[in-house]
Amino acid sequence: MILGKKNQEKKYVDKGKRLDGRKTDELRQIDIEVGVIDQADGSAFVQWGKNKVYAAVYGPKECLPRHTQNPLKAVLRYKYNMAPFSVSDRIRPGYSRRSVEISKVSRLALEKTLVLEDFPKTAIDVFVEIIQADAGSRAAGITAASVALADAGIPMTGLVSACAVGKAGGHIILDMTKEEEDAPDAIDLPVAYVPETGEFTLVQMDGELQRKDWDELIELAVKGCEMVGEKQRLALKKKYEGEVNE
Ligand code: ADP
Repeated sequence: MILGKKNQEKKYVDKGKRLDGRKTDELRQIDIEVGVIDQADGSAFVQWGKNKVYAAVYGPKECLPRHTQNPLKAVLRYKYNMAPFSVSDRIRPGYSRRSVEISKVSRLALEKTLVLEDFPKTAIDVFVEIIQADAGSRAAGITAASVALADAGIPMTGLVSACAVGKAGGHIILDMTKEEEDAPDAIDLPVAYVPETGEFTLVQMDGELQRKDWDELIELAVKGCEMVGEKQRLALKKKYEGEVNE
């Protein structure tokens, strides 16, 4: 690939500030709303920088076809979908290798904290729709889905919080935008973490990482996920404390 001269010369961090004015350890603005879809058992909308993501949960319900049932616990199904208009190049509707991969890793990231044994033979469907994307959409999807699962009343050992850390222009940064992900030396590390238990449920990596950067990246990811977790809890409190007070 021939790298654009513009990208090679770009300063991704200048006097401690990034291209969008954030500090290296700062998240984009995140707003979470719970219970946004009437027909779903649980739902959430997450606006994360320019990312706009809906998550809807249906179930526990009868698991069909029957041969996919598990007699001991509920089956969690997760579908990540990018709307055709979510990025500047139109996305072909339907499954892609990327959406299948993201759906699988996101399901595994959430499954660990859910008490699925309470609902044998059932299915829990999670639909994540990316309406607008600007990097970090899988993290925003997992974050929204975990809140939607809590809203649906699925018992869990903790909320799963996600964010991406990475490197651009030689700097370790939290929560990269698409512009930063397009840096010639970019490394992208999406992480899902359970602040209540200190467990990692997802660590992926794009690019080449040097051992010396690992500890710093993971420490930053934990800090980012803890901040995301705080937003998730506040959003749930806002809905349910409001209902209790009414
Ligand atoms: P994530 O959104 O979790 O960071 P990727 O690293 O695969 O996942 O994608 C980074 C970003 O690249 C996406 O958020 C989106 O803005 C953009 N992108 C992904 N797939 C496409 C595509 N098929 N066409 C155009 N842009 C895309």
